Amino acid sequence: MARPATVPPTAGLPLRLADLRPWGDADLAGRLAQWLGLPHQVQLECSGTSALMVALRTLKTLAPGRSEVVAPAYTCPLVALAVAQCGLRLRLCDLRADALDMDPQALRALCSERTLAVLPTHLCGRVADVAMAMDRAHAVGAYVVEDAAQALGAKFGPQPNDRPAGTLGDIGFYSLAVGKGLTTFEGGVLTARDAAVREALRATSAATVRPSPWWELRRSVELAGYAALYRPAGLHLAYGAPLQQSLARHDWVEAAGDDFDDFIPQHPLGRWRRRVGCRALERLAAFQQQAAGQAQRRSAQLAAIPGLEVVADAAPRARGTWPVILLRLPRSAARDALLRAHWGDGSGLSLPFVHVLTDYGRYDHVLDAARHDPVEQARDWAGRLLAISNSPWLDDGRFAGLLQILEQSALATS
Ligand SMILES: *Cc1c(COP(=O)(O)O)cnc(C)c1O
Repeated sequence: MARPATVPPTAGLPLRLADLRPWGDADLAGRLAQWLGLPHQVQLECSGTSALMVALRTLKTLAPGRSEVVAPAYTCPLVALAVAQCGLRLRLCDLRADALDMDPQALRALCSERTLAVLPTHLCGRVADVAMAMDRAHAVGAYVVEDAAQALGAKFGPQPNDRPAGTLGDIGFYSLAVGKGLTTFEGGVLTARDAAVREALRATSAATVRPSPWWELRRSVELAGYAALYRPAGLHLAYGAPLQQSLARHDWVEAAGDDFDDFIPQHPLGRWRRRVGCRALERLAAFQQQAAGQAQRRSAQLAAIPGLEVVADAAPRARGTWPVILLRLPRSAARDALLRAHWGDGSGLSLPFVHVLTDYGRYDHVLDAARHDPVEQARDWAGRLLAISNSPWLDDGRFAGLLQILEQSALATS
């Protein structure tokens, strides 16, 4: 029997061979600023994590004496590694019960004169309530760094008065990593509302980020390989086969790609990869519009299944992006059973992150005080979330199969 083609876990914008031409516009910072509708430049870094490190080091110079960074307890482990690399202490904020976002009361309890920054996070493209985080942070003199790693293209507010997610906080960053939408294999983008903060971000980058021909060569080869393999046939080699190996070992942390190393490379984003990004960016808006339409249709079908909740934006009147459709199941046992049966079989199921940061074990050395922060609600989310790929390659036929699987699971557990 033919193996079903591998579906990527998220709706990444596929590259075309023509994107790889080594000439043309390399002003990705200018193009992105234009794309976002910003009146000023954005700043490019080699990854979202590196962008976050530049942001945190900058804020340390602006507010010396402050040492704590507050992030949601359920987020990318790279955030914890970045905070530790900057010599800062992470504090973990529990989540709301009714939305995938920091709990306002828990956030107030964590904010103090020690707080340097609060990181509202648009997980999986679902827009967080940044205004609430600004309120809590500014009340104690702290900054807001908006983690829009997974939300380039998401919007606050209705048209035509909408604003891009990532630009409401004092500083915001996006990731151009594989799987997050637009990609240069790895890449990061920094924005700031205030001109003086933008100047300070540039100064930090100039002082701390050094060119690395080795890392740039490595990322360029990886980007070319990605462009070659990011198609239904190639993905088995690049993603499907390693995933099946991780799952055969019951290693969900590796399967979800949550197994990060401590070392975070920092170097500029090279010219060729910026050119590739410029060309792909021209297709991003249309691609995201199509993905949003698909997500809307499929969300309605999913929401009709008893017990299934399609996770919505936490911020009122927001329009998030749709790399995946996120579901919250009634019980974690049912969620785990679905993953054991169908993760890696081409149904398009995966996990955003496996655990709250304190439950991995492998990140304990960077958690410090955060290990004692209450995270019960976030842990409940972590146990019940399920992501469905919103890639166009998960076609209607396969999605119908997935609906059947989910309906059977709902019947079995009701
Ligand atoms: C991926 C991610 C990051 C880090 O971005 P990279 O570009 O992979 O370094 C930070 N925060 C969140 C929420 C992410 O998903």
